[in-house]
Amino acid sequence: EPVIIPRQDHPISRSQVSPNALRVLYRLKDNGHIAYLVGGCVRDLLLGREPKDFDVATDATPNQVKRLFRNCRLVGRRFRLAHIHYQDEIIEVATFRAMAPEEPGEAEAEPLAEGEVERSRKPRHVVSDEGMVLRDNVFGTPEEDALRRDFTVNALAYNIADFSIIDYANGMEDLRRGVIRTIGDPVVRFTEDPVRMIRAVRFAAILGFTVEEATRRAVLELAPTITRATAPRLYEEMLKLFLSGAGERVYQILRQAGLFAHLFPRFNGWLDRESDGFPHLRISKALEWIDGQVGGGEPVSPPLLLALMFGEYVEELAGELVSAGMPVPDAVSGAMAGFLGEQAPIIAIPHRIALAVREILLLQLRLAKIPGKRPQGVLARSSFAEALAYLRCRCAVTGEGEKVLAWWERYSRDNTMPPVEPGTGESEG
Ligand code: ATP
Ligand code: MG
Repeated sequence: EPVIIPRQDHPISRSQVSPNALRVLYRLKDNGHIAYLVGGCVRDLLLGREPKDFDVATDATPNQVKRLFRNCRLVGRRFRLAHIHYQDEIIEVATFRAMAPEEPGEAEAEPLAEGEVERSRKPRHVVSDEGMVLRDNVFGTPEEDALRRDFTVNALAYNIADFSIIDYANGMEDLRRGVIRTIGDPVVRFTEDPVRMIRAVRFAAILGFTVEEATRRAVLELAPTITRATAPRLYEEMLKLFLSGAGERVYQILRQAGLFAHLFPRFNGWLDRESDGFPHLRISKALEWIDGQVGGGEPVSPPLLLALMFGEYVEELAGELVSAGMPVPDAVSGAMAGFLGEQAPIIAIPHRIALAVREILLLQLRLAKIPGKRPQGVLARSSFAEALAYLRCRCAVTGEGEKVLAWWERYSRDNTMPPVEPGTGESEG
């Protein structure tokens, strides 16, 4: 039996909920349906954090939802979701379901063709030899919908009918105590979907929570199975991890949990070795810098993130190729290709992103020369802003290259060439 927390016993007020989400909830309720806010938004509202988005769960089928909203589009083939479109916001409405989402990104990838008929209920979910959930397209009860979720703190629902919170999994207690705990046996839940291990790390880092003991032991035990998740999905998860604003903490927890070594085996080995007698601490500092940007509302692009995380490693690989006689630009390209190749089976970095990372690293060679030939051409390069941001971070982390950075900052701002102080520029490159 769920615990119901009545309106007067919890702090969520309608004024904190997006007006569009309220509109959706009321329209569903007024048409005789159950309508809950669910997932991360309830957790975040209870913690006094601003939710990223508002998700709605209902007993209305996707087609029933579609009939209630003119601005509705159905997306997803395996499990159909309704997207209610507003000016600057999309409210996602999901019908209660019985099993966990498989590859959440997939739903968005395949919009349903206009007029396509709703499919009949499919057979119960299929589980692979290893216990991974392969299909999930079974409508369920509100309780099943809560219990299929990953963590207790992610399973709370806010009921628009009476403004109460419905707690099926003791999530309120874990929220109060700051604990990330799987719903049910963590070994079973992480075997169904290994990405949940990464999600546990992300929530622990962002919320400043601890991972409950049995959940933590299960992560340690099952860390090697993280590579069963598909490479494109792990790429998306990696971005969420390191662009969360708590990337440095994510990094520390991933390393302790043994996940980092399986996500980035070669890179992890390099981190564990020293270069010239110094440990590799730059990634930690770079992630702190990125967290500062994200926290200050300065977006960090995926190519910049990857360049900052792996740049030093790639540069060291490139250095070896240069020692073997390769020209520097070729060596950077070769080192990038090597890095992509070793990551490809685990984390699929899209080609266009990889090209942009390479461009950021190659531009560093050019930026080191001031003014160099045709500096106006450098400003026009599509990756200039990111290359400059890379230099800014490097400078903040290592204290090197301040004068070169200041020159380019000023040049790109004023668009007239600043003087070059003697002893900087050309000779450094
Ligand atoms: P964020 O603030 O980062 O968006 P979130 O909790 O909203 O956090 P989402 O990835 O947006 O996370 O997912 C929404 C909800 O769907 C989660 O709160 C959780 O209840 C459920 N969920 C998402 N992914 C999984 C999964 N892999 N297994 C089980 N439940 C999941
Ligand atoms: Mg969310």
